[in-house]
Amino acid sequence: MSFRATVLTLYPEMFPGPLDVSLAGRAREDGTWSLETVQIRDFATDKHRSVDDTPAGGGAGMVMRADILARALDRSVPPGDPRPRLIMSPRGRQLTQERVRELAAGPGAVILCGRFEGVDQRLIDARGLEEVSIGDYILSGGEPAAIVLLDAVVRLLPGVMGNVVSGDEESFESGLLEHPHYTRPKEFEGREIPEVLTSGNHAKIAAWRHEQAERLTAERRPDLWQAYRARGGEKP
Ligand code: SAH
Repeated sequence: MSFRATVLTLYPEMFPGPLDVSLAGRAREDGTWSLETVQIRDFATDKHRSVDDTPAGGGAGMVMRADILARALDRSVPPGDPRPRLIMSPRGRQLTQERVRELAAGPGAVILCGRFEGVDQRLIDARGLEEVSIGDYILSGGEPAAIVLLDAVVRLLPGVMGNVVSGDEESFESGLLEHPHYTRPKEFEGREIPEVLTSGNHAKIAAWRHEQAERLTAERRPDLWQAYRARGGEKP
C-alpha cells in the first residue's frame, strides 16, 4: 500500500520540485508514494479560464472561487476517497510532527494550495477541509507549504529512511529538541568535541545527550518544555 498525494494547484509545474531528489525522489521512483497534480484552471467555466474574483465586501486582492474549486475537487477526488482533505492556510492549525506521523500512517492526502488572498470560506466549510499552516508567516501560495508537508510525511514512510535509525531520537519525536551533533575533525578552530562523546561509554553518552536535549528545550522552547514536564518526561 503506498501513500497517494493529490495536489490541486494553479502551478503544477512547481511539483515534484524538491520532492524529486534524494530520499523522497527515490521513494517516489520505487512506488512508496505517488504524486498527482491537478490544474485548478482546467475546471474554470468561462473562456478566460478565471478561477478568482474580487472579495465580497471590498478590499485588495482576489479570492479563489468556491464553485471552481469544488468542481476541481469533486472531479479529481472520487466520493468515498478515504484520504484526508487539506488546505494550506496561515489560519490553520500549525503542522506538528504528531500530525505528520498520523498522515504518514494513512492512505495519503488531498492538498489544496491557495493563491491570492486565499479561498472562499464556503468551499472550506462545504467540503470539510482541514486547514493546515506551516508557521506564522505569509507565503505567496500554498505550494511551498504543501511541499514542506509532503517532505515531512514522505521521510516517515516505511523504507524511506533505510537503516537510518535516527528517526526516533529526532527533535520533537520525544517532545524535546535534539541534542547537538559533532563529527571529525576532533579539533576545529580550537574547539574540541565534548569529551564524553569520545569516551566510548554508551550509557554516559546517552545521559549526556538527554541532558543536552532537556537544556536546549528549556532554554529555547518553553512551550515544549512545559508540556514535557507536564507529561513527566513521557513521549507525546
Ligand atoms: N490573505 C491571507 C494570506 C494569503 S497567502 C491571510 O492573510 O491569511 C496565499 C496562500 O498561500 C494561502 O491561501 C495559503 O494557501 C498559502 N499560505 C500562505 N502562508 C501560509 C502558511 N504559513 N502556511 C500554509 N499556507 C500558507
